[in-house]
Amino acid sequence: MDDRVRENFLSRLMPRPREIEIPDGELLLLSENSFTFHGPDDAAARKCATEWLQRWWNVSGAVFHATDAVSPTLPSEGYRIETRPGEISITFSDGAGLRHALRTLRQLAEPCRGTRTISGWQIPPLKIADEPAMGFRGVHLCVFPETEKLELVKQIHLAAYLKLNYVLLESWGTFPFVSEPDFSWPETAYTQEDFRELVEAGRSLGVAVCPAVNLVGHATWATGGKSGKFAVLDFHPEYAPLFEPDGWCWCFSNPETRRVLKHLIDEMCDVFDNPPFFHVGCDEADSMMSCSSCAAREPLGLLRDHLCFLREALAPHGCRMMIWHDMLVDRNDPRWAGFTAFGHAELRTPELYRELPRDVVICDWEYDRPCPTRDYEIAKFFKENGFMSILCSCEDKVATAKMGRSIRDNRLDGLLGTTWLRCVGRDFGRIYTALAHASWNPGFAYAPDTDDMAVFNTHLRYVDQDIGVKRYEEFGRLVKYQQDPVKLVSM
Ligand SMILES: [Zn+2]
Repeated sequence: MDDRVRENFLSRLMPRPREIEIPDGELLLLSENSFTFHGPDDAAARKCATEWLQRWWNVSGAVFHATDAVSPTLPSEGYRIETRPGEISITFSDGAGLRHALRTLRQLAEPCRGTRTISGWQIPPLKIADEPAMGFRGVHLCVFPETEKLELVKQIHLAAYLKLNYVLLESWGTFPFVSEPDFSWPETAYTQEDFRELVEAGRSLGVAVCPAVNLVGHATWATGGKSGKFAVLDFHPEYAPLFEPDGWCWCFSNPETRRVLKHLIDEMCDVFDNPPFFHVGCDEADSMMSCSSCAAREPLGLLRDHLCFLREALAPHGCRMMIWHDMLVDRNDPRWAGFTAFGHAELRTPELYRELPRDVVICDWEYDRPCPTRDYEIAKFFKENGFMSILCSCEDKVATAKMGRSIRDNRLDGLLGTTWLRCVGRDFGRIYTALAHASWNPGFAYAPDTDDMAVFNTHLRYVDQDIGVKRYEEFGRLVKYQQDPVKLVSM
């Protein structure tokens, strides 16, 4: 096979498998080769594979061989693909592994050439050994009142397509609580049924959709510098005692705060069907414990008790608490120079990690810091101290790739890509492309300067087809129009 043809096939893979070989030989027509699957007897995975083969390539008649024990060489979510003339053989460790194998083939498959419309699909001869480099591969999405549900559906499908396994949905005053109806924007168009549908969409694709909501700082549930809005107090100023006087943090010493937060947690855990993780925020909580009641208390104990209260409220739901890391590291500690550290020595918050239960998950948000001369010392610190430690990226491709390697080399627990207000257009493609490679296979020498635009758009078209997008405004990278409509008017 010509090297250029080989390279063209490889360049379409996002993420690149850990080991992939394209030996010399003829292309294989998917419809004329029998698919054989080897793996544990998993009815749901078998059904899914049968449906996908039919829908994507009009292929039927796959044969499944149940193996009693998973091969010891095949880790969780792993798979192998080997082709021979007449046969495409797939070995998988579990349902996730089977789905990942088919997703890889989908990215590789090329419509047969020389006809006006698709007559079949072809792949090169293959030998693939693949599995993820880390157990947690996630993306964090914001649900603002103006966020359209389709944007979330699309990103949950895209996450699965790119082999991520977690989506965190942060509701900025958009989750409608029945027990506490004043604790969301009255205008939110979201229903609890909408959130249930998003959770179910993820589950059907092998993605755990988990809630995130700010229960420490960022209590306005709206951007501070950009909007100055407040989901609760703008409409209900009477709830001011539940927050610190500047509104930015919840008031930890008020027992009524806990009553409200317990209701919020129970209801979200129910709608998210007792998710594995629940992110409670805890970043940039500068004004915490600033009211006259909190300030009179011993700060380390008050913050610890607040976090432990949240953790204990989550425990009956089998749900692990995630927090951002920045308040737990001293802003003046030279060890963290160049990293994100906002802890206050005078509030003793940098000592808190010693007293936190080790099942709390620490999310180190270094975002776009590639830190060329240093490794990610804060994430390593929390790992060394017994916590599950996750690095969090944003749009910088160099930083994201470096985080992937740091997680692999230091045996950290995973990578969480964040999107915030940037998840449209070019940034949308950048964030997901870098995240897919770095979280699945950080060993791949992904060249961040390479323009993956057309490849990413092709993958996104498959996602749009999967979810049945039908309108001009809804296709593509979460931009409704190619030209800003305001400019159209002013011209
Ligand atoms: Zn207070």
